[in-house]
Amino acid sequence: MITEEEIALTNVLVNGACGRMGRAVLKAVIEDPELALVGAVDVSEGADSGELAGLTKNGVLVETDLAAAFDRLHPDVMIDFTRPDVVYQNVLLALTHKVSPVVGTTGLSEEQQREIKATAEKNDTPAFIAPNFAIGAVLMMLMSRMAAKYMPEVEIIELHHDNKLDAPSGTAVRTAEMIAEVRETHEQGHPCEKETLDGARGADYEGMRIHSVRLPGYVAHQEVIFGGLGQTLTIRHDSINRESFMPGVVLAAKKVRSLTSLTVGLDKLL
Ligand code: NAD
Repeated sequence: MITEEEIALTNVLVNGACGRMGRAVLKAVIEDPELALVGAVDVSEGADSGELAGLTKNGVLVETDLAAAFDRLHPDVMIDFTRPDVVYQNVLLALTHKVSPVVGTTGLSEEQQREIKATAEKNDTPAFIAPNFAIGAVLMMLMSRMAAKYMPEVEIIELHHDNKLDAPSGTAVRTAEMIAEVRETHEQGHPCEKETLDGARGADYEGMRIHSVRLPGYVAHQEVIFGGLGQTLTIRHDSINRESFMPGVVLAAKKVRSLTSLTVGLDKLL
């Protein structure tokens, strides 16, 4: 029988530890027998990460200097749920310290992802990004790509809480990218349609329209609606709470070191 000591632990630092996702990630990491929480970083210091997770104190206090934390703690993995405007620098810093980033923060541009891939290869340190860590959302994206082959007229409606900083959501963009792999670019709607109020038809991704709803009460939800002759098909996913993301985050933290270069999307780990 394998004893607890014999299980190779993955040492994890959580960045954005005081945030909504950060706290849920702290709890998931602390409770997983194959992961060890070695560090927690956010913009203000001192909180106990066990207490932040809603558990008992564990003495791993939140600190503010990410580079110093890497140098002192040597984590295997940094899980990042911070902000769209800081995540890129966090990921580059992790890679140059040979720490594998597992990134949930959305908003990284294609250009930034190319640079992350190059930095991961240069430092021989694998990186992982998922616009959505919920298995149901991954299935929604895969099923949408399948459906778009047969029903190429499609619009995406994503609905999130009103503290979300980026729009459209990373999940909506990734869904549109996956649909675009099987759908020829074409404009939808009437060729002479005219918006009488700016933005009424939503964002345009290769002719597909994406609509972003921001309201208190929501967590993370998306509908992909396909229209055909005399019929519509709706594929919908709802994250009812942040626990929905945790099995995916934990899986990525355990697997990232066995990958190479940059991997994008939870579907690649399933
Ligand atoms: P939040 O605002 O509750 O938390 C963000 C945290 O990051 C805060 O505690 C903030 O103080 C901290 N922070 C800001 N700048 C920092 C820095 N420079 N260094 C360290 N910490 C810093 O936000 P949230 O709801 O937890 O979401 C975080 C991100 O995760 C967003 O981009 C959101 O879209 C994304 N998200 C992704 C998924 C997914 O499955 N990929 C799921 C939910 C949310």
